[in-house]
Amino acid sequence: MPPKFFWETKKLDELTAREWERLCDGCALCCLQKERDSKTGKIRYLPLACRLLNLKTCRCKNYTNRHQVVPNCANLTPVTLRRYRNWLPSSCAYRLLFEGKSLPSWHPLISGRKTSTRQAGMSAHHRA
Ligand code: SF4
Ligand code: SF4
Repeated sequence: MPPKFFWETKKLDELTAREWERLCDGCALCCLQKERDSKTGKIRYLPLACRLLNLKTCRCKNYTNRHQVVPNCANLTPVTLRRYRNWLPSSCAYRLLFEGKSLPSWHPLISGRKTSTRQAGMSAHHRA
């Protein structure tokens, strides 16, 4: 039997800070503006990104101080995940694990490549 990954052996609230950060697939979809359809309740991602998002790399330009610079940047933790998860894309690693699902094959922790999220067409690249 292949060895289990850390996210398969621990609960989300048991992860170290580093393990928690490593789970992010870097899609940056959570950094796009969103709106909820008043009839269907579905979340739509708009082609407008947070001003701190580098659209080429899909990285935050000031990740360390992001909550000071952008007060409405969601502080995603095992506790807040329950509240935010419906605003996250269904492909988000935190949402998938919260819902008891597996990470997709294109997730960088599975593929071993940092660029695999973008190559799979799952990132905000070219969407804003
Ligand atoms: S949607 Fe989830 S996986 Fe994608 S960048 Fe945001 S927190 Fe990371
Ligand atoms: S501050 Fe950074 S992490 Fe937060 S939404 Fe903006 S780009 Fe994304």
